[in-house]
Amino acid sequence: MTTLPGWTLERLHDDHAQALRESRVLYDSQTEHQRLRVFENPTFGRILTLDNVVQVTTRDNFIYHEMLTHVPLLAHGEAKRVLIIGGGDGGMAREVLRHTSVEHVTMVEIDAGVVEFCREYLPDISAGAFDDPRLHLTIDDGAAFMRSTSDRFDVIIVDSTDPVGPGEVLFTDTFYGHAHRALNPGGILVTQNGVPFLQGAELTNTMRAFKALFADSTCYLATVPTYAGGPMAFGWGTDGTARQVTVETLAQRFQAAEIATDYYTPEVHKGAFALPGYVARLLP
Ligand code: SAM
Repeated sequence: MTTLPGWTLERLHDDHAQALRESRVLYDSQTEHQRLRVFENPTFGRILTLDNVVQVTTRDNFIYHEMLTHVPLLAHGEAKRVLIIGGGDGGMAREVLRHTSVEHVTMVEIDAGVVEFCREYLPDISAGAFDDPRLHLTIDDGAAFMRSTSDRFDVIIVDSTDPVGPGEVLFTDTFYGHAHRALNPGGILVTQNGVPFLQGAELTNTMRAFKALFADSTCYLATVPTYAGGPMAFGWGTDGTARQVTVETLAQRFQAAEIATDYYTPEVHKGAFALPGYVARLLP
């Protein structure tokens, strides 16, 4: 494995790598499931990697977490019960819980070490979410939970690692089928679906499954600097009409939610669903 002393070299892709300077390595250990490292970088702040793949940085996580939460929640308009699969750093829970209309959040994370570690070493990411009484954390495989749960949810957010290692089971037709069944009427499933320019087959696979399951299936985009390779895709599946919500309605809901954001706006929300040809052609 190529190494670059003083740098983290992420080799998620076959023909493309990214290197991030380590100004200080804070932690490097093996949890029950993954190798967990945290280091500091002058530009991106603190960076968490799992199995040497960037998971979250204190500087650019807002883009990812705002777009995977406020898009489905404001499109839905009256979501009360939310499920997060993965999300061990707590950033997704942080943004969901900013919606006072949300009454109950279930979070199913496979690796207790990630949660424990992020609470201590990356507290700004969760920003108190783990202490919110509305949050119910379960340490379990998200696929096993989805298979067996009898709970129902208005929004399901899959905030997983990439489809390698423990995250692989979260990119299967079986998992998506169980998620579809766990949605309330009008419910929405959104997924972390990689960078289409480098992980196109992953998006096509998810979209093929979504097309078979949902009345409305597509993806939307946002560019997160440390998820290298261009815009990241978020899978979208629902049997409802939430994607048709107007920018005016989104603006009313966004204003009523009184949430300050650095990336999400109602206009960005609607624009994120406008797909360039190279992405649209990946959808079945
Ligand atoms: N933003 C990151 C990305 O886009 O790759 C994801 C961040 S979050 C830290 C990913 C989480 O998914 C990790 O905490 C990991 O432990 C968790 N995870 C991986 N496989 C899982 C599974 N099968 N069930 C539940 N959680 C899982």
